[in-house]
Amino acid sequence: MRTIRAELGANSHNIYIGPGILGNTTFLLKETGLSGKVVIVTDPVIDGLYGQDLKRGLIQAGYKVTTLLVPRGEDNKSLETAGRLYHDLTDNYADRTTSILALGGGVIGDLAGFVASTYMRGVPFIQVPTTLLAQVDSSIGGKVAVDHGQIKNKVGAFYQPRLIISDTETLKTLPSCEMANGMAEVIKSAAIRNERFFAFLEDNLASIKDLDLPCLEETVFQTAKIKAEIVEKDERELGLRAILNYGHTIGHAIETVSELAIEHGKAVAFGMIAAARISHKMGILDYAGLNRLRELVGKADLPTQMPRMDKVATMQALKHDKKIRNDKIRFVLLKAIGDAFIADNVDLSLVEEVLEASET
Ligand code: ADP
Ligand code: ZN
Repeated sequence: MRTIRAELGANSHNIYIGPGILGNTTFLLKETGLSGKVVIVTDPVIDGLYGQDLKRGLIQAGYKVTTLLVPRGEDNKSLETAGRLYHDLTDNYADRTTSILALGGGVIGDLAGFVASTYMRGVPFIQVPTTLLAQVDSSIGGKVAVDHGQIKNKVGAFYQPRLIISDTETLKTLPSCEMANGMAEVIKSAAIRNERFFAFLEDNLASIKDLDLPCLEETVFQTAKIKAEIVEKDERELGLRAILNYGHTIGHAIETVSELAIEHGKAVAFGMIAAARISHKMGILDYAGLNRLRELVGKADLPTQMPRMDKVATMQALKHDKKIRNDKIRFVLLKAIGDAFIADNVDLSLVEEVLEASET
């Protein structure tokens, strides 16, 4: 098991990563000083795979445990579902010392975290992410939210968990398309911050895809460490944290225009390549760097070409999403593999050019 300490003042907490560590949950909760009731929030599939064993273990150790099930799907990341959870918490006599434990992917983590941040003005929150995306990205950094209307993550808070337990063995049951989606964030993190880790991914991608446990542990550990270090420096996203949005400006526009038919990871994968092409066209990133990114994204079974879709609508979505001044847009660009920065002055015409041409 590997441990990362996220240093966030009074909200500092540990992130534990390793195969089979779900079995250590009781020990880790006790070590963190969490002794009250535990409410597990999960979906029926994850409950069957991991939730029931987890509950049994906690009960054996003397914890009072209740499981609240949320149906699968992003639709449930809503105020309506949050309302139902507040109701169920009250029915189960949950008080200020009751911990809410999110067991699942980003949907469960965001929703349960939002409920934990607001129920009785905040109760202890535990993240137990079971998707690659949640282990490397959404469980870290304290952003919790529900969607509102058509807008993702519209209503939310910054609310740090008391601990994060990432059992890499749970990735063995994850569908391969979910693994690929998570790999987009893994590649993103390496590309913006750590060239050595990027080289590790180039060398070990086949083993990661084969779910080799030591490789998975290293991958989750390195990616989580990159995110935790960025969040430590800029918890509220006033500056540096924005580099985590690398690939997401065009990515979000693609997701919106496809009405979420194109998944987040796939949209971000293309967005990263487009942003690297913009960096190259501006003379900031060399061709070798662009090519390394393109090859790794392709090897991870993620798209390297713009999906067939309305380019005009994509540009409109992009403009809608961002503040534009004098036809210039803010963008995260790459200087080199492992080195990203925020540029304020990218010409919109350049973005348009890159979206239109399918090759460099
Ligand atoms: P993400 O973390 O990518 O946002 P979601 O929260 O949308 O993912 O979860 C994706 C789906 O994967 C859900 O339907 C969930 O039930 C399922 N799931 C999550 N973790 C696992 C796992 N370890 N094994 C199998 N299925 C899982
Ligand atoms: Zn993302």
